[in-house]
Amino acid sequence: MDFALTPEQTSIFDMAYAFGQDAIAPHARQWEQDGTIPKKLWPEVGALGFGGLYVSEDAGGAGLSRLDGTLIFEALSMACPAVSAFLSIHNMCAKMLDSFADAPLKDRVMPGVLSLDTFLSYCLTEPGSGSDAAALKTRATRTNEGYSLTGTKAFISGGGYSDAYVAMVRTGDAGAGGVSAVYVEDGTAGLSFGALEDKMGWRSQPTAQVQFDNCNIPSTNLIGEEGKGFKYAMMGLDGGRLNIAACSLGAAQAALTATLAYMGERQAFGKSIDQFQGLQFRLADMEIDLNAARVFLRQAAWKLDTGAPDATKHCAMAKKFVTDAGSRIVDQCLQLHGGYGYLADYGIEKLVRDLRVHQILEGTNEVMRVIVARDMLKNR
Ligand SMILES: Cc1cc2nc3c(=O)[nH]c(=O)nc-3n(C[C@H](O)[C@H](O)[C@H](O)COP(=O)(O)OP(=O)(O)OC[C@H]3O[C@@H](n4cnc5c(N)ncnc54)[C@H](O)[C@@H]3O)c2cc1C
Repeated sequence: MDFALTPEQTSIFDMAYAFGQDAIAPHARQWEQDGTIPKKLWPEVGALGFGGLYVSEDAGGAGLSRLDGTLIFEALSMACPAVSAFLSIHNMCAKMLDSFADAPLKDRVMPGVLSLDTFLSYCLTEPGSGSDAAALKTRATRTNEGYSLTGTKAFISGGGYSDAYVAMVRTGDAGAGGVSAVYVEDGTAGLSFGALEDKMGWRSQPTAQVQFDNCNIPSTNLIGEEGKGFKYAMMGLDGGRLNIAACSLGAAQAALTATLAYMGERQAFGKSIDQFQGLQFRLADMEIDLNAARVFLRQAAWKLDTGAPDATKHCAMAKKFVTDAGSRIVDQCLQLHGGYGYLADYGIEKLVRDLRVHQILEGTNEVMRVIVARDMLKNR
């Protein structure tokens, strides 16, 4: 058993970290105030190969492992978890297309997806179905040319911003087996968007409803086979959960590093606050939590990479453990900054806000426990 990163993995991490510090960190606060990430960032990100991290090399992607991918999201989150997580959603969609779309669809869309000239959103949640995603109601009715979509997707990251939408829609009966995945380009007649959601964190990422009103798409925009869309969507989520966890990990590490430095400078009662043993113990607890989270996440990524039968359970466990630990750590870091932690200038309060949603999306942390417990009961 070898816990060390390879030299290639170290350079992948270093490259992503350097890019994040140079091209994202200096602007993250402004983008949050603007409520959007400038589109011109993405082709720069695409040039690094980050538009198709898990897309096979044959198809022009980076062909990276899941473990490699977590390193990139951890490193980018040290600059801004909201930007990093946004890229993760695009990559989840890119992997779905690479794995399941037929050759003509891939030939048509993949060049833009890889260069990040085509930014993708993932549309599963609806106003009436979140955790119970298989209850989705958006209907895709067969037409002579393809499908007509009617329904609403809720909470879509990149809604109204992205260039195309990977949407899970109902082509058949109730339940998971009646769901298909389709590709809907921005500008398609009948596609519209709700108002921007005003939210606690991830404020640089636009979130909005995606509405389909007799939105006609050609049958060539069906991804894979009819009735398999829910399965594809769930397969995408195993990796997505690792990435969201990696985003919590990187942000928590950045907060802890900043807190350690701050505590060496801040004076109280005649000494620097890092000299109080009660606070040193808190630092130690955070270091222990963070390292446990990192090892656990990388093990789950390795399980997914090696096709382990319990990979889904491990992805769920890691998502729950790492995102809970990340939120706890950034909250403690805010506390250790005292009143300054509450001010935007110190960067910690943004992390508290950004990481909170990681415990909610890509399956809530309650649903992660459902997945783990179901597996335990099945295999006892
Ligand atoms: C900022 C943001 C961005 C998002 N981006 C996207 C996106 O890009 N694409 C997308 O498809 N979705 C996205 N979502 C939606 C997200 O995935 C859902 O909010 C999430 O799955 C929870 O669904 P819900 O909000 O309907 O909560 P509900 O499912 O209504 O859950 C409410 C509460 O009940 C609990 N609960 C539900 N079922 C169970 C159960 N069986 N056992 C125990 N507890 C349970 C939940 O854990 C939660 O605490 C986003 C959400 C947010 C906030």
